[in-house]
Amino acid sequence: MANTGGGGNYRNGTQKGALKFDRPLSLNSNPKSTSSSFKSKPSSAAPPASGLRRSSTGSLGGSTGPSKDDAGVPGRVRVAVRLRPRNAEELVADADFADCVELQPELKRLKLRRNNWDSDTFEFDEVLTEFASQKRVYEVVAKPVVESVLDGYNGTIMAYGQTGTGKTFTLGRLGEEDTAARGIMVRALEDILAEISPETDSVSVSYFQLYMETIQDLLDPANDNISIMEDPKTGDVSLPGATLVEIRDQQSFVELLRFGEAHRFAANTKLNTESSRSHAILMVHVKRSVKGRDSALLSENGNMSHMVKTLKPPVVRKAKLVVVDLAGSERIDKSGSEGHTLEEAKSINLSLSALGKCINALAENSAHVPVRDSKLTRLLRDSFGGTARTSLIVTVGPSPRHRGETSSTIMFGQRAMKVENMLKIKEEFDYKSLSRRLDIQLDKLIVEHERQQKASRDEVERITIEAQTCISEAERNYADALEKERLKYQKDYLESMKKLEEQWAIDQQKHGGGRTAVGLKDDSLGKMSSGEVAEVPAAEVKKLLQNETLLRKAAEEEIDNLKNQLVQWKRSEAVGNSEILKLRKLLEDEAHQKQKLEEEIAILQNQLLQLSFEADETRRRLDGSGDGKVPGGLDSLLSQVKLPQLKDSGDGEKASIAKLFEQVGLQKILSLLEAEDADVQIHAVKVVANLAAEEANQERIVEAGGLTSLLMLLKSSADETIHRVAAGAIANLAMNETNQELIMAEGGISLLSMTAANSEDPQTLRMVAGAVANLCGNDKLQMKLRGEGGIKALLGMVRCRHPDVHAQVARGIANFAKCESRASTQGTKTGKSLLIEDGALPWIVQNANNEASPIRRHVELALCHLAQHEVNAKDMISGGALWELVRILRDCSREDVRTLARRTLTSSPTFQAELKRLRIDYG
Ligand code: ADP
Ligand code: MG
Repeated sequence: MANTGGGGNYRNGTQKGALKFDRPLSLNSNPKSTSSSFKSKPSSAAPPASGLRRSSTGSLGGSTGPSKDDAGVPGRVRVAVRLRPRNAEELVADADFADCVELQPELKRLKLRRNNWDSDTFEFDEVLTEFASQKRVYEVVAKPVVESVLDGYNGTIMAYGQTGTGKTFTLGRLGEEDTAARGIMVRALEDILAEISPETDSVSVSYFQLYMETIQDLLDPANDNISIMEDPKTGDVSLPGATLVEIRDQQSFVELLRFGEAHRFAANTKLNTESSRSHAILMVHVKRSVKGRDSALLSENGNMSHMVKTLKPPVVRKAKLVVVDLAGSERIDKSGSEGHTLEEAKSINLSLSALGKCINALAENSAHVPVRDSKLTRLLRDSFGGTARTSLIVTVGPSPRHRGETSSTIMFGQRAMKVENMLKIKEEFDYKSLSRRLDIQLDKLIVEHERQQKASRDEVERITIEAQTCISEAERNYADALEKERLKYQKDYLESMKKLEEQWAIDQQKHGGGRTAVGLKDDSLGKMSSGEVAEVPAAEVKKLLQNETLLRKAAEEEIDNLKNQLVQWKRSEAVGNSEILKLRKLLEDEAHQKQKLEEEIAILQNQLLQLSFEADETRRRLDGSGDGKVPGGLDSLLSQVKLPQLKDSGDGEKASIAKLFEQVGLQKILSLLEAEDADVQIHAVKVVANLAAEEANQERIVEAGGLTSLLMLLKSSADETIHRVAAGAIANLAMNETNQELIMAEGGISLLSMTAANSEDPQTLRMVAGAVANLCGNDKLQMKLRGEGGIKALLGMVRCRHPDVHAQVARGIANFAKCESRASTQGTKTGKSLLIEDGALPWIVQNANNEASPIRRHVELALCHLAQHEVNAKDMISGGALWELVRILRDCSREDVRTLARRTLTSSPTFQAELKRLRIDYG
């Protein structure tokens, strides 16, 4: 690394890494960007970050929801250097000396003078001269980060440098007197406010300072000891105690900054420090809703089944921009000349030196990054080695008197250039609003349905009544007409009788002389028939007869008429009846329709459950990449596979899944595992996995051949999702001893090994490892499991660095070691541990002090079990396990494990001899 001459040669902290990347060095690591430099071109129609958006939303557009592709985009920390012009004092005092730095902005190089004839050369992502404008600095350093934040990624902008070199000038100037002087904070907020839509999005900020490991709220002076919270699941850090102010316009933000600045001054006076010793941190939270995904849901009168198909929860992106104005990087004088005690000096330096250590560790790819050593590094854990897009500006002064500080500032920047981040979109489903909308939709349907039902019932009733009235009126009319006819005939008959009588009386007078008509009425006819008719002239009688005949005919016609009318009434009655029948049918149809609607509602609910499950799974995968608490053991596996709704909410949903299960039938679901259509298969395997997560279903699934089908899926399917879900289901079934034997008998180990070998997906590997880990805990299966390569498969999976996978591997090893230990104690096993024979020891030793407690705990147990058998002792000593045992005995947080380790060490002659030889007294 020695540098022999100025000019051409350069020494550079980035020689191994950074110099290799070819230009263009772009702050925005979007490969599609054509921007040829570190700066973002403001005039370009599509800002560089939107290219990034395009490439990531491509993978987000799928059907399962946000962040399907959670691998992230590589994004190295970008570093710019800015030189402050000579100030008045330097112009006088250093008049005879050259600047200690010389910039070559076109080559993006900085030369640091060693002496008059020799200098070292360093390369940066961007080199900003003393003439660089504030606008240019913003566009080059900050704008790409701001655009990224608007796209849903976290972002960090940080300034590092000696006091007086322009950190606050660069970040914090308000520029009220001169617009061109505005710093990065003001410009960033201006860009953010211009981009968001006020109806759906929101921006809120908090502003605080960190001094001597205490955090003070700059927006609320009374709040002077804020604590940091870390979400164990996502690893997100937040300051719930800090004041959070929603920002709607630029003016109120500038006022807020001014207010914060005033408090920073006051707080520093109170704490008896200078602002150069404290770190000022501005946190901007941007929440945006992602449009265009839920429009189908908004079509309120849309067809139901259509709605079910296109159902999508709305998505929100929550990103955070952190702007950090660090304390001056110069070393604090430990002699106390600034009035600090040595303890104070240590505390003042703590955060900054911890930041330096973390960046060194990250630059060197070291396994341990001491993030937890200070509040600053905890706050910035996502900024360095995390998921944020990070831009660092290092500020230097020209004075040769400060060459030492300038040099160390430059080296800091060089190391930071080697830090790689993995950018990830911060996106989640807005389930609450989806559920609200579904509820509204459901209620509307119920109301509409009820209304329709009532209307059709009323209509049937009305028509029935109408028909009845018609019938009774027709009957009444008919009876009336009949009565009238009868009366008319009676009257006609009486009249014609009267006429006959009169006629007869006249005839009598004419022919019979003085005979009176008394009694005639009674026997006139009798007399006529008894021969006195002869006295009536024949013509008269004939005429009468004809008359009578005519009358009779008329009466007969009338009767025919009435008969016809009766037939007609009967007919209309029949029509009325058929009308009633029709209405009945209508009513039945309505009832049928209602049933169909209810079925659709059930499908809708099921769909919601499924969606929630998938999203939960996705979120879990996303979360899994943080280093929060790593779940271990069977319970956690079980809960991973369960539908979250089944866990969280009441029995309602549980019952509906159970109903679905009964309706469709287990056999049917299992047969769908062999479906041709991959989607159907995926769906079916998910349903089976959900069922298998419930202990109550496991026996039925196995009896129905489900376990065999799941194992077959590992072989027959090439789909990653199917592998993952099937392995999860198998892991759950493998909790039971009978099933473990069945899995082994069906060649489960080789199927699981094959799946593990072919997959790179941490979640699949975690499920497979979980299944094997369960099998490892079965005393009867030890030999067979090892013989079929189970241990090797388990160890093979540690190539995936995901802590969840490691936790399962550790659990498997601990289970296996425990069984072996049991067998040894019972005398059924005599040889060396199969784990050691299969080469597990190096991994065990390496992970015995793993940061993640589930991994550490299992490995510690495994070590203790292995150590209980003298046959293993020699290998363990040569593999370095003795040191770990001593450490466990001294430091392990669990007392039972400490006791186990002590007992093991004390009872082993081999370990005792070695400890004596090494003169280790473990107390
Ligand atoms: P720091 O925050 O690093 O301690 P400041 O931002 O307070 O430094 O800057 C110290 C002084 O230098 C201030 O008076 C500031 O106005 C001036 N200064 C810093 N950078 C520049 C620059 N690029 N151009 C002109 N003056 C500058
Ligand atoms: Mg400052």
